[in-house]
Amino acid sequence: MPHRAAQRTNAHPRRAKIVATVGPASGDEPMLRQLLEAGVDVVRLNLSHGDHEFHGAILRRVRRIAGELGRFVPVIVDLMGPRYRLSQLEGEPKMLEAGEEVTFGVGEVDLPVEESEFLDSLQVGERVLIDNGLVELEVVQRADRRVLATVVFGGQVSTRKGINLPDTDLPFTISDKDRADIAFAVEHDADFIAVSFVGGPGDLEAIRGVMEEHRGNLPLIAKLERAAVMKRLDPTVQAADAVMVARGDLGVEVPPHRVPVMQKQIISSGRRYGKPVIVATQMLESMMQQPRPTRAETSDVANAVFDGADALMLSGETAAGRFPVEAVGTMCRIIEEAEHYRRPKAYDPKDKPAATHLLPGSSEQPYLNAGRDLHLEIPEVVSAAAVYAVDRIDCKHIVAFSQGGFTARMIARYRPNTPITVFTRNEEVARRVQLVWGARPVLLEYEVNHHDEVVASVDRILVEKQLARPGDTITILMGDPIDQRPLTNLMRVHRVRSG
Ligand code: PEP
Repeated sequence: MPHRAAQRTNAHPRRAKIVATVGPASGDEPMLRQLLEAGVDVVRLNLSHGDHEFHGAILRRVRRIAGELGRFVPVIVDLMGPRYRLSQLEGEPKMLEAGEEVTFGVGEVDLPVEESEFLDSLQVGERVLIDNGLVELEVVQRADRRVLATVVFGGQVSTRKGINLPDTDLPFTISDKDRADIAFAVEHDADFIAVSFVGGPGDLEAIRGVMEEHRGNLPLIAKLERAAVMKRLDPTVQAADAVMVARGDLGVEVPPHRVPVMQKQIISSGRRYGKPVIVATQMLESMMQQPRPTRAETSDVANAVFDGADALMLSGETAAGRFPVEAVGTMCRIIEEAEHYRRPKAYDPKDKPAATHLLPGSSEQPYLNAGRDLHLEIPEVVSAAAVYAVDRIDCKHIVAFSQGGFTARMIARYRPNTPITVFTRNEEVARRVQLVWGARPVLLEYEVNHHDEVVASVDRILVEKQLARPGDTITILMGDPIDQRPLTNLMRVHRVRSG
């Protein structure tokens, strides 16, 4: 397995992470094991399908197999969110012709809907998209929950096809199903909850409120898939713990040609605020049926790496496809090749690196422009200083001795050439940092109370795990005094000692 060999020898392990959706094609023990061995870093459970019994069993199985492999694999519970669908249609499939008028909503209508509250928000002139946008209607008139619409793009429609309302100012609602799924995630100690159709920071607050009712406080991944959220991109990214470019629904809500630029804007915002960004959907779609990807898919995966994504996600490819392990292996190889191409050249002491790119005013590292539009706190400047240092010395690791994973995120946003190794006392943190670009966790199984103890433990464990050799230079970040658990304030550039 190239991925594991790369980790063992520490020869530049893969930095961008792989999220795999586990479903009917991949939930059994041997398949899950193969997926983790092939390189899956993070597992996603899509609660739009399957029941709690199915997802609970997978979650327990992932934890057990990861433990046996000596790995930390976080699990994302992805909520269905407010999804609207057509209900049972008479005489389906129904063919809708461009220009004809149809009725839509509740009562005696051509196109009845499953759940009708959203109709109250529809305005004349707004678009109603059916079946991933293949059919488009325009609202002509609305009387309560009965809507008259003109067909703009015709096509076939049938029972339970999804509805998107890209122009409508929809209030964020939390369905009974989502409430039950949030309770499930808290009860099963999931690592992240992914929130579908987020419209802004307030929606994330609402989900946190429901978690609190269940005494939970899981990190939230905001799925960016509504046109409206792009107007509030930065505050939404700031309010989230991570974000997802959910290109499936995003590409229905906005014209598909705008999605690649939005992907770049979202990744840039994520890096600005140190929030991991997952690029999702149709990355290797053809591998649901075939063992090899199309050339366009291969380029899409590589370009997400070049864009700077923290993680790339497989959906149907691993959940329901015929070639789940091959899809993961393919994604690994494309990422590794892309990272090899983009990796800065090896350190050469004769090089005199231009320090200017880290200085205020540089366009390359705009988030270092302290005092302009972003106030830097101590952990952020210490992290920036560490990246500045390791890019200029032959340093084998940046080690973050981390209590919550914040420092790892602060370091990762600079995408340093040096591997980021996160030492933590907390198993949850060890799992959750797996979503962060380049961060690999080490669980410290005993208490340390002084910075010298941290340094001695880091040296010993890195040598034991063959991640470093005595004499190698490493840079360690921590909050000192250790026993008071302050945020990161100390950077130590150090040569690994033996024994
Ligand atoms: C998406 O729309 O791209 C997405 C990831 O969400 P879901 O798979 O829940 O549709």
